Amino acid sequence: MCRHLGWLGTEVSLSALVLEPPRGLLVQSYAPRRQKHGLLNADGWGVGFFDGGVPRRWRSAAPLWGDTSFESVSPALRSHCVVAAVRSATVGMPIEISATAPFTDGRWLLSHNGVVDRAVLPLPSSAESCCDSAILAATIFERGLDALGDTIAEIGTADPLARLNVLAANGSRLIATTWNETLSILRRPDGVVLASEPYDEDTGWADVPDRHLVEVSADRVTLTALDTKGTR
Ligand code: GLN
Repeated sequence: MCRHLGWLGTEVSLSALVLEPPRGLLVQSYAPRRQKHGLLNADGWGVGFFDGGVPRRWRSAAPLWGDTSFESVSPALRSHCVVAAVRSATVGMPIEISATAPFTDGRWLLSHNGVVDRAVLPLPSSAESCCDSAILAATIFERGLDALGDTIAEIGTADPLARLNVLAANGSRLIATTWNETLSILRRPDGVVLASEPYDEDTGWADVPDRHLVEVSADRVTLTALDTKGTR
């Protein structure tokens, strides 16, 4: 389904992260390599980035590969902390900007790669769209990102078919979960990348094991197994 990417490090351009890598999100929008569900990510794209402490978003419900405006402007947009995604809408979900990641509560940017039965989620009034990912994002924002691992384990237990790879950033931290979808990590000299799949052939990419929480800050990366009791 969707593919997403997070960056925490020194300032880099959005085009260097999203458009230029040989197997980056632009190429993943039409030729993903590790995607288990769906062939294309043509139902929209979004890039969120921190401008100082302020999260800013550029989203579209059209394919990334046709966006000549983003192609033109993105080399001039630079940030130290980015969340970006290309979307393959789940059957039945609306194709609209408000259903497209990243979602925000004004402090965090958040993307969801996967699917969840909306019947197991509350219906937070703050959800931007009726899309499962928008409702999941609002639920996570309400419970707080410090509880992300518990929230995902709980929802994954309530919906055994759920796929719950979440990626979020607040300008100084990147956090992500793996739950039935792929995620890789690359530690570069200038920062850390989390991505649904490697964007190039660098031998430094490592796969994050399933059902884990990854936390990245300026000085460390931590992996914690999620509490999966009752889910297998
Ligand atoms: N279920 C979400 C949507 O419809 C995310 C889909 C995905 O991961 N491809 O947008």
